[in-house]
This record gives sequence, structure tokens and C-alpha cells, in this order.
Amino acid sequence: MVSRKTVAVIGGGVAGLAAAKAFDKKGHRVIGFERSHDFGGVWELSRSYPGVQTQSPKDLYRFTDLAMPEDYPQWPKGPQVHAYIHSYADKHKLGRLYQLNTGVVGMERRADGKPGWTLTLESAGRTRQEDFDFVAICTGQFSYKNIITHPGQDAFVAQGGQVMHSSEYTDSEIARGKHVVVLGGSKSSTDIAVNAADHGARQVTMVYRKNVWRIPYFIGGINFKRLLYMRAQEMQFNSWGRSPLKKLFAALTKPLVWANFRGLETMLKLQLGLKKWDMVPDTPIEKEASCSLPLVTPGFFETLKSGKLKLVQGSFDHYDGDSVVLTNGERVKCDVSVLAVGWKLGVPVLPDAYREKLIESDGQYRVYRLSVNPDLPEVGFVGFNSSFCTILSAEMIANWLVRYADGQLAQQPSEADMNSNIEMMLNWRRKERPAAQVYGGLCSAPFHFKHFDELLADMGATKTKRSNPLAEQFSYPDADAYGEFLASAPDYQAG
Ligand SMILES: Cc1cc2nc3c(=O)[nH]c(=O)nc-3n(C[C@H](O)[C@H](O)[C@H](O)COP(=O)(O)OP(=O)(O)OC[C@H]3O[C@@H](n4cnc5c(N)ncnc54)[C@H](O)[C@@H]3O)c2cc1C
Repeated sequence: MVSRKTVAVIGGGVAGLAAAKAFDKKGHRVIGFERSHDFGGVWELSRSYPGVQTQSPKDLYRFTDLAMPEDYPQWPKGPQVHAYIHSYADKHKLGRLYQLNTGVVGMERRADGKPGWTLTLESAGRTRQEDFDFVAICTGQFSYKNIITHPGQDAFVAQGGQVMHSSEYTDSEIARGKHVVVLGGSKSSTDIAVNAADHGARQVTMVYRKNVWRIPYFIGGINFKRLLYMRAQEMQFNSWGRSPLKKLFAALTKPLVWANFRGLETMLKLQLGLKKWDMVPDTPIEKEASCSLPLVTPGFFETLKSGKLKLVQGSFDHYDGDSVVLTNGERVKCDVSVLAVGWKLGVPVLPDAYREKLIESDGQYRVYRLSVNPDLPEVGFVGFNSSFCTILSAEMIANWLVRYADGQLAQQPSEADMNSNIEMMLNWRRKERPAAQVYGGLCSAPFHFKHFDELLADMGATKTKRSNPLAEQFSYPDADAYGEFLASAPDYQAG
């Protein structure tokens, strides 16, 4: 008999909601904490920049038991995703489990000697403590802004300049009539640069370090989900734990794989005109594919052509008067400086002694199945397996984690199993696939199927693949099908 636990879920983004639902469904007493006034995490309206839309097509960015509405576009806008997340919370009555405006500011092992943790909670300026048997940490990878400053910033601001993190660019009017300089080359940089140019900025300059491959929503007229998200593509990347036979097969098919990716690169170069804009990356695309691979912001190349957006490779050196001086010595007039420099990964709620067990000195996370660490008892992470279909990934790991916490995985790992797997994964990321080190190694893309196969096998699912082998090989991870696969795992109730 599985005993009923009191479970804390930290965070009310898609991962927190998936975790709250999974633990609640198994009969645990769940209390969720979200420091913001609303659910949604990165999609919460006051945090989203204008015009934001998903990178994943809508059928790849959904929970297994709730499709996005039919009238949504293929790539829904931020407010639509936010409304969808709310409809999921309503469908499963998850609001009753959550305390909003309540941040978790610390956690310690329980003083009463029982397994679990005491959380320190902060709400309306007051702190209190509560004990939990298990904690699901679902705080995401975009919760703590990466704040950087450059010499001369104070004087620049004093003379009327504005400096903001990309998440603070929440109103396009900020750009009107201004010289806007965006630092960074990620999707949020290109989104903001295009948005500013479209909303009356006098000039927009995007300053970025390195050319990266960018995927258009349609490649040669075909929705990228039909070309890139499939087992047949995934097999061509050097995944972890390949058997000698698979390695031999990879060696034999290397020329074909090479030709496939050169073909894709040629297509991208021609379609996007990368040479003309001096935007051809140095790294082969198959070596770079990971969670940080951006999509092309709609209108990006058109804005370049219009002259409203200028690109400069380099970085900021310092502010001087009403300008930014770049590392190449160029001076760029600037009224608004948008620093699209990302987020700091981390789990600040953990005590230092436990954080040291979780994060290696090079920033790589020690997590089994991207969720648990044997040295951190009664804790698991949901949503740390980010991907190109993160809602599904979060739901898969949430279902895995509740079984892990209850000792109900069909393949419940021992401490030794977990440690040896963690070492193997660290070794793979450091030696065989450096691209997998992005976000501290907390990314399952482009190995969605392999990751999900492992989770389903652990859970003892009897159905793990679609019956149509062609669909299975040549189609994207289908949320409806994964709903069926999850339902085929043995069920139980805590009580
Ligand atoms: C602009 C943008 C577009 C994206 N598009 C896609 C896409 O198309 N496809 C895709 O797969 N992924 C996409 N992503 C990635 C996205 O982060 C994930 O898809 C997903 O939304 C992450 O959900 P999460 O719940 O893990 O984290 P978050 O959404 O970041 O939620 C974490 C929550 O935890 C709360 N929190 C943090 N610390 C505490 C604390 N101490 N106490 C209480 N609460 C706390 C935060 O307030 C937040 O609400 C996108 C991300 C961004 C920023």
C-alpha cells in the first residue's frame, strides 16, 4: 500500500500544473505555491513581450488530454497559450490546490527527523514554515533574470537612456521614435528587434556574438514539424548509451547522415539568404541542435531588407553619452538598450549543501532522467527536461516522478543505478555531445523519443509506440498517443 503524502509543488507554470495534477490524481495531498498572482509562468501576461508566440506548433505544445482550440493558429500567440494553460487548470480544478502570491524562499530537511522538507513560504510580506513529505520543484529555466551591466550605464541612464532586460520589454510603445539596440542573438532578441522596428523605432540594431542556425516555420514550404521532429531524424544524432551495434550502424550510415544535414543547411542558406546577411554559422547543424536552436521570427529577414534593422556581430563594450560603444569600436546611437541575455539557471530555494550535490562545478546538473538526484531525497524536478515540446515533456516526467516518489516504477532505480547513469550522461555531454550541455544539460531535445521511451519503460507502460510503424518513424511526438501510452502504465492509488 502506498501511503498518502503531503506534496509541495513549487511553481505554477505548465510544469507545476502537470506535477500538481499527477500527484493529485494518485491521491496525494498537494499544495502548490506560485509566487506570481497568476498561473502560466513564462506565459503569464505581465511577463510576456508583445507579439510573443510559441516556437512549437500547437499540436506539439499541449497536454495529452487537452488539445489547443481549433481556431488557434498553428503557432499560438502568448495570450492564447496563457488562456489554454488556464483552461487546463480549470479542467482539472487545479486552482483549489494552489496558493498564489506565495513564494518559496527556502527549504531545509525536516527538524522532526521524518523524511521530507520544511519549506519557508513568503506571502504578503509575512513568512511561515510548513512540512512536506515530498517536494516537486517546477521553477523553470526562465525565473531568474541574468542581469548584466556595462561601464558607463549609470551616466547613460542619467542622461535619459533606458536599459532593460528582455522580459521588461512588455509594451511596443517603448520603441516608438527611439534608437533601440538589442543585445543577444536568441529568439527573444529577434522577436524584440522585429517588434520594435514594426512599432515605429527610428532604428533598431541587434548586436550578437555568434551566428547560429535558425529554423524557419516552413522549410521549403513544409511545416518544420514534418521534417525535424521524428524518430528517423532523431536517430541521426549521436545520442547517449548507444550499443556497439548502433554505433556500427551510425558509422556505416555516416555519409548519408552527413548528406542529409548538408542538404538541410543548403536549403536554409538559400531560403533565408544567410550568405547575403553574413549569417552562415560555423558549426554543422547536427552538432548544434538542442533546446537553444531558435526559430526565425516571422518578418525578421524582411525587416533586415527594409533597412529598419541592422545587425552587428560583437558585444557591448561600454555606454558613452547617448551611444553604446561596441567591442569592434563602432558607436551606435541608443535611447533604449534591451539586454536579451537570458536567464540564470539555478534552484535558489535549495540549501547550499544540497545545491553542491546537484550542480557540478562546470554548471552541469546531476539528475537522473532529468528529474531526481539520489543525494537529494524526497525531491524531484519537473520541467527540467525542457525540449521542443516542453508541455508534453513536463507531463511525462510528472507522471514518472509520482511513481518514483511512491516506489511504484516498474524499474525503480537503486542509488547505484542512478549514480552510474548520471555519470554516463555527464560523460556523454562533455565528450560526445557538447551541445547537450546547454541549460546545464537540462534539455532532452533533439532526443524526445529516446527520453520518452526510457520514461515509459521505467513506468512499465505496455504501449509505447503507435501501431502504424510508418507514423511512428516519420511523425512528430503525438500528445494523444502519449496519453494512451501513459494510460497503459500500471495504475495505483495512494491512501
Ligand atoms: C518566450 C518563450 C517562448 C517559448 N516557446 C516555447 C515553445 O514554443 N515550445 C517549447 O517547448 N517551449 C517553449 N518555451 C520554453 C518554456 O519555458 C516552456 O515551454 C515552459 O513554459 C516552461 O514551463 P515551466 O513551468 O517549466 O517554467 P515557467 O513557465 O518558468 O514557470 C515557473 C514558475 O515557477 C514560479 N516560481 C519560480 N520560483 C518560485 C518560487 N521560489 N516560489 C514560487 N514560485 C516560483 C515562477 O513564478 C513561474 O510561474 C518558451 C519560453 C519562452 C520564454
